[in-house]
Amino acid sequence: MTIHKLAENLWQIDFSLFGSCVYLFKYKKKNILVDTGAKWNFLELKKSLEELKTPAEKIDLVILTHGHFDHVGNISLFKNAKIYGSDKDFSRKENILDIKELNLPGVVLIETPGHSKGGVCLWFPKEKILFSGDTLFHRGIIGRTDIPGSNPSDMRKSLEKLTKLDFKILCPCHI
Ligand SMILES: [Zn+2]
Repeated sequence: MTIHKLAENLWQIDFSLFGSCVYLFKYKKKNILVDTGAKWNFLELKKSLEELKTPAEKIDLVILTHGHFDHVGNISLFKNAKIYGSDKDFSRKENILDIKELNLPGVVLIETPGHSKGGVCLWFPKEKILFSGDTLFHRGIIGRTDIPGSNPSDMRKSLEKLTKLDFKILCPCHI
């Protein structure tokens, strides 16, 4: 696993085995995690957060960019966190709150279907940070649209929304 510090309050965690990367974002006195990796990334995730002196029980908010297994494998680790995701990818039964009800000042929620029905991106305009899930990666690479739940024409519209945003730090969920 590797931990990269991207800003004063933002870290990216990558795993040795396949899984989404995870971002720890310390924002307005909250410890926010974006995505959780795949199940088998469990130990590395736990260890990374301990290294960052923010163990799992100190995470206040988990935001899931979409419902794929490689992003949602470790939500059970965050016992004290509220977990949010789009109701187009998650059902209420899973104890995942509707991302539209996320009450976090200074964040703009952007619905970006295309890779999955319930894909979302989170934009922090003041900090110029964009969490882009599996919609947009570095070097202009885009997420897959050939899997169940994906739709190339929705993806085009979603990417168009992202091109209008001003950001300096792109945080995609695969690098
Ligand atoms: Zn995905």
